[in-house]
Amino acid sequence: MTLKTAKPAISSLLRQIPAVDDLLAGQALRAVEKRLGRRAVVESSRKTLDALRKRISSGETKKFSIEELESEIVRRAEKIVRFSVQPVINATGVILHTNLGRAPLAQQAVTHLAEAAANYTNLEYDLEAGHRGKRDAHTDALFREMVGAEQTLVVNNNAAAVFLTLNTLAEGGEVVVSRGELIEIGGSFRIPDVCAKSGAILHEAGTTNRTRLADYSRAIGENTRALLRVHPSNFRITGFTERPSLDELVGLAHERHLPLIEDLGSGCLIDLASAGIHGEPVVAASLKAGADVVTFSGDKLLGGPQAGLIVGRRELLERIRKNPLFRALRVDKLTIAALEATVRLYLDGREQEIPAIRMIRMSREEISARAGRLAERIASLPEFTASLEDGASVIGGGSTPGESLPSRLVAVRHRHHRPDLLEKLLRESSPPVVARVERDRLLLDVRTVLEDQDEQLALAFERLANQLPHSG
Ligand SMILES: *Cc1c(COP(=O)(O)O)cnc(C)c1O
Repeated sequence: MTLKTAKPAISSLLRQIPAVDDLLAGQALRAVEKRLGRRAVVESSRKTLDALRKRISSGETKKFSIEELESEIVRRAEKIVRFSVQPVINATGVILHTNLGRAPLAQQAVTHLAEAAANYTNLEYDLEAGHRGKRDAHTDALFREMVGAEQTLVVNNNAAAVFLTLNTLAEGGEVVVSRGELIEIGGSFRIPDVCAKSGAILHEAGTTNRTRLADYSRAIGENTRALLRVHPSNFRITGFTERPSLDELVGLAHERHLPLIEDLGSGCLIDLASAGIHGEPVVAASLKAGADVVTFSGDKLLGGPQAGLIVGRRELLERIRKNPLFRALRVDKLTIAALEATVRLYLDGREQEIPAIRMIRMSREEISARAGRLAERIASLPEFTASLEDGASVIGGGSTPGESLPSRLVAVRHRHHRPDLLEKLLRESSPPVVARVERDRLLLDVRTVLEDQDEQLALAFERLANQLPHSG
């Protein structure tokens, strides 16, 4: 159809489009085929020729060369062979960036995970007794030592941990929650919704900004099965506020023969006050205060794999593990291996080797030195300027609301191009670089860039400089 109605110039151009087989037979693409495989090169050639046909028909393309086509085919083929999940360089300064997969694992965790992945393991086999064992055995002793838990269960994530706990302990009955803690964590985790799905009836206590012990006390009735305390992970209520202490709440729950469940969210295992993070509750302190079941994430401040930890009193945990839903929410050997290796680092006093912890504790001097070197490399590129300025990194992942870590940022500008364009091209780079744009500049925070990625980041800017027209 197109050919008949097309102007003569367009139809003549369309006739010049080579056949896929002819292109593939050329020397350049034969070499690419060796490197990237036939499937990728054939698919990429078809797509490239289709795209060219469209551009010619619409009048957008008036001439083309085989060399141009070949390099377009190579670019497409390289994209095709790339895995969908790729490592990215996180230059945003958000340490636990949920969109970027939260905590990167420590090397020890990666090694242990790979070893478990490639082999049969004693996941559910008691090697001493020679018969079936429990997969919880692997983390039980670690968390007993680390946080003083009588027992530990590991499920898919903290959302699953809260859901399973409420479903086991409060289904068909009421659970009392303060109105100030009816939170939503990004990605549709909302306490009222999770409660409803678990079959527990939410009984709200107090008000948004002030909930007193007496409010909880009044909310308890004969249908009450538990009190739930939730860490308001990603926001902070300030001003005229009140919230009973954990001790007081535990006292009330136990006086009324009810369990106190605490959703801690982040699950900080050590006090991070020395790193400038104040008021983030530590798991061991909650258990010590008498919380009966505490849940938290594996991939937030703990710095391990995605997981939900349920720790606390044996009698309650046994009930939770007997829930048929536990089977549906439990984790595999890879998660257990990574978690075990991560917690072991804390116990050995080597938590500095956990990337998230190292990033949180990174000194201003270290950040300044690395940022300075990066700025120098970028500033040496044509049409680029780069300078250091004060800014802040954040922990993210729904933890430590209102707290940020002072940082030194590299502010990048290009003489002719907007920062949005730089940001987009960096995202499309390989490996992709994710950075922030604020007003007229691109901001890079090296706190979240793994040390061995500094060079890759500088190289990404060198490629960017070659890609951009030098004057405009
Ligand atoms: C993050 C968070 C959750 C959800 O945890 P996931 O591991 O992402 O499922 C639940 N509750 C609180 C308080 C949180 O901060």
